[in-house]
Amino acid sequence: MQYRTMPSGDDRLSALGFGAMRLPLAAKRIDEERATRLVREAIEAGVNYIDTAMPYHNGESESFLGRALADGYREKVYLATKLPPWSVEAREDMDRLLVTQLAKLRTDHIDYYLLHSLTRRSWERMRDLGVIEFLETAKEKGRIRHIGFSFHDNPEAFREVVDAYAWDFCQIQYNILDECHQAGTAGLEYAAARGLGVIIMEPLRGGHLARAVPDEVRAIEAETGVSRTPAEWALRWIWNRPEVTVVLSGMSDEAQLRENIRTAEDALPGSLSQGDLAMMARVRDIYRDRMMVDCTGCGYCMPCPYGVDIPGCFAHYNNYGLFGKEPAVRYYFAQMTGIMDKEGYAGLCRGCGKCVRACPQHLPIPDLLQDVSRTFEGPAFTVLRPAMKHLKGIHRHWTNLKNRRYAASGGEES
Ligand code: SF4
Ligand code: SF4
Repeated sequence: MQYRTMPSGDDRLSALGFGAMRLPLAAKRIDEERATRLVREAIEAGVNYIDTAMPYHNGESESFLGRALADGYREKVYLATKLPPWSVEAREDMDRLLVTQLAKLRTDHIDYYLLHSLTRRSWERMRDLGVIEFLETAKEKGRIRHIGFSFHDNPEAFREVVDAYAWDFCQIQYNILDECHQAGTAGLEYAAARGLGVIIMEPLRGGHLARAVPDEVRAIEAETGVSRTPAEWALRWIWNRPEVTVVLSGMSDEAQLRENIRTAEDALPGSLSQGDLAMMARVRDIYRDRMMVDCTGCGYCMPCPYGVDIPGCFAHYNNYGLFGKEPAVRYYFAQMTGIMDKEGYAGLCRGCGKCVRACPQHLPIPDLLQDVSRTFEGPAFTVLRPAMKHLKGIHRHWTNLKNRRYAASGGEES
């Protein structure tokens, strides 16, 4: 296994991290026996960074890992989990959530603790609720060792969050399609230059870069004469960057795990040739040609006075063009823009034109939003959205209740 050193401190982390959000399933729940074997096989092969979060697997990922890391495995890994800002209404919620997570994970400390999925808005809210004091107190007490954040917003917001605190590390979405999206390459370089370790998530764009691979891409990769899967090429492209500390992969089966372990072994910084990089640029261009909107996700058009999540709508629309009409693309659009607390779906647009004046790409945003709305917001969306929203509220209430009871029982209840 290849190891890379965390800039703050001297932890040597495996270049491949295990993301515990796509564990093998049986009857729609985590397949406990197989998933435990998978996690332990990864650790035996040298993987020493395991990442989870409260919502993964409907709240079951953390407690699963607590059990899977028994028998001495906990001591062999650095464990990462995240504080969910959407479950925090007051400062005391932060302590309650951390106590619950420690109980679920059956540990007395979290090695890498992140604020989950920060945007500019959620960062400012958490800052105002006192999250820095919470994190520093938890660190002083030895409950957490390193402080970081995961991120989903535009490049400008990324720099603001990086500069707002002396973070140890950050976690960003990065892959061949996200060079100019969210934190992007500029954000990767910015964070590394400021001494942050950088953990990469979504290296295969939710697995799409391994699954929905166009024939043209396979043909271009074959021209190299090197036998590598599209997933291997995509991962090597990320590990080639010296700024990257760990690449997380949400591995669901033994074949993926073994391929990724083999790849991580010699995917060193600077190991791709100029020819390889030129080939990957052609691959990226093929995917880009399939994108529906030339939106970079910069966010200059935001905020929309009527609440439209403009870059979010276009990101889902582009996934639709890139990866075909998979039901998952529609589901994520509905989930992210239609049933979150703050709705941002395309049909909210009133055509005021404010965003058009701000867009550096000069996109006809209201017209494009009409296309998005026609694609995603048909009768099913209109009818099901209020019901899904209601169910989400019930689920959140139930999860909070369950976590409170779990913390109060000292981790005895499931
Ligand atoms: S044109 Fe539509 S999306 Fe743009 S700012 Fe106005 S309401 Fe929002
Ligand atoms: S629509 Fe334009 S301004 Fe808005 S995120 Fe996309 S490129 Fe940036």
